[in-house]
Amino acid sequence: MNPRTQSLRPLLFLLLWQTGRRSLASAPELQNQPRSIAVVGGGIGGMAAAFYLRQEFGAGVGIDVFEPDAVGGRLATVKIGDHEYETGGSVIHPLNLHMKHFIEKLGIRPREDVHSKMAIFDGKELTFEESDWFLVNFLRMLWRYGFSFLRMQMWVEGILDKFMRIYQYQQYGYSFSTVDRLLHAMGGDSFLTLVNQTLEEVMMGEGFSQIFLNDIVAPITRVKYGQSVRINAFVGYVSLAGTDSGLWAVDGGNKRVCSGLLYHSKSELITARVTSISLKLRPSKTGTTTTFYEVNYVGESGSAHTLYDIVVIATPLHQGKSDITFTGFSPPIPSHYPGRYHQTVSTLVHGLLNMSYLGITEPASQFTVTDILTTDTRGCAINSLSSLDPVHIPQGYQQPPASQAKVWKVFSQQPLSQEQLRDMFLSWDSVSETRWLAYPSYRPPQRKTPPFILHNRLYYLNALECVASAMELSAMAARNVALLAHHRWHQQAGKIDQEDLHIRLRGEL
Ligand SMILES: Cc1cc2nc3c(=O)[nH]c(=O)nc-3n(C[C@H](O)[C@H](O)[C@H](O)COP(=O)(O)OP(=O)(O)OC[C@H]3O[C@@H](n4cnc5c(N)ncnc54)[C@H](O)[C@@H]3O)c2cc1C
Repeated sequence: MNPRTQSLRPLLFLLLWQTGRRSLASAPELQNQPRSIAVVGGGIGGMAAAFYLRQEFGAGVGIDVFEPDAVGGRLATVKIGDHEYETGGSVIHPLNLHMKHFIEKLGIRPREDVHSKMAIFDGKELTFEESDWFLVNFLRMLWRYGFSFLRMQMWVEGILDKFMRIYQYQQYGYSFSTVDRLLHAMGGDSFLTLVNQTLEEVMMGEGFSQIFLNDIVAPITRVKYGQSVRINAFVGYVSLAGTDSGLWAVDGGNKRVCSGLLYHSKSELITARVTSISLKLRPSKTGTTTTFYEVNYVGESGSAHTLYDIVVIATPLHQGKSDITFTGFSPPIPSHYPGRYHQTVSTLVHGLLNMSYLGITEPASQFTVTDILTTDTRGCAINSLSSLDPVHIPQGYQQPPASQAKVWKVFSQQPLSQEQLRDMFLSWDSVSETRWLAYPSYRPPQRKTPPFILHNRLYYLNALECVASAMELSAMAARNVALLAHHRWHQQAGKIDQEDLHIRLRGEL
């Protein structure tokens, strides 16, 4: 790790805290504030938006969050026996500073660390099994792939350094009107190139071999995004960063952050599905016309509508994800942007693993691998197979060995058939399947990314997900949109789309 970055990171985190406090204290005077804001979607993006909107606009504004289903969205758990297990978004990078900031603020602990060990499966046998000894892993990698592994880590570190710039920009209140401008501010043209080339192209260009890509990189993109190395290189980088050490999760389940932010932001949860948003003009006292957004929704007690000054859409505007229509806007706003969401089926099985499925002859009692990634080979129907620990680790918890029935999570693109289940497990007593439209199908070159600003005071948070999907990116987009909404309301153009911020702010740390 670059020692300069290492020393900057704790500072960044400290600053994030301080600036969070400062902007709350200096929220502008109430008379000039919006009266009501709607957030559509109660996942991590929507709840982070509510949190940051409250921080920017102060206590006087009413914030309503619309969510027809469970709060948390793609952060969800299922109960098996006496414990809950993550079925959607599960791991968080140690340098995801927004997520870290949220749990600190909410007084939630990270989940206790549990042992993990990785292997790679090619559909017939394990082609790699991590050793408990660092030196053994290092020498094996060196023997097989030369210094590729180290070079990959350095490549990811280099991108991470630029990625981290966004925290400083946001701490100083800067925001960006488009995804391209935000990416450019972080990493210049090189970040835009990452979005428009495949991970395979970029890594081959950097001198990595096809064998290394097939054996090591593809299993990572498959477990993280269910897709091959032909995803865009930016989301590819996010996948590779997701194999760093120190990954964590929230004690009690990641979705707790969403309900915590809802409570902390003092927002109102409206259990309803938004069906349409219409532009409404109303004459004001001063004789001018004021624009409002009419949010139409359907809840348990029927349909209703409410007028808002500002609206933030915090759900993907894509086929199968939401069906909101926009009326009265010129140019028109589409209900769906181009591109589709990739299906990942998450199947949680409480059962006894069939060791011969993995081509293993050693006794199950000695098999301590927890995460089995898969290569992109024909005939390998699954993306990964992981031994799951509960969202809360009870005192004295011991990971059961593979010779005992325990909870396994299988990621696959299609639902598992009974035959596939029988291949993988000798027996089982429960199977719980969640079919997610999990993240976009990343196929570079990236068509034009959707805008953050759909209309004057109507914002779209999930625009950022079109380049990479992760909890932290939703939180980052939420902060950007909250800042953007604030600066545009108060006409503070100097805080939007500023160039060369990393040079201008260099002396500030
Ligand atoms: C299987 C899986 C594994 C993943 N693993 C990881 C991981 O390990 N680490 C990581 O960082 N990320 C992971 N992710 C990605 C991460 O979960 C998402 O990027 C993140 O949760 C997206 O949050 P969001 O709030 O932007 O969207 P969502 O969570 O999708 O929230 C949108 C909300 O909007 C609601 N909604 C939709 N339409 C309407 C409407 N018309 N009116 C009102 N509300 C509406 C939905 O019900 C939903 O609750 C994973 C995702 C999946 C599915």
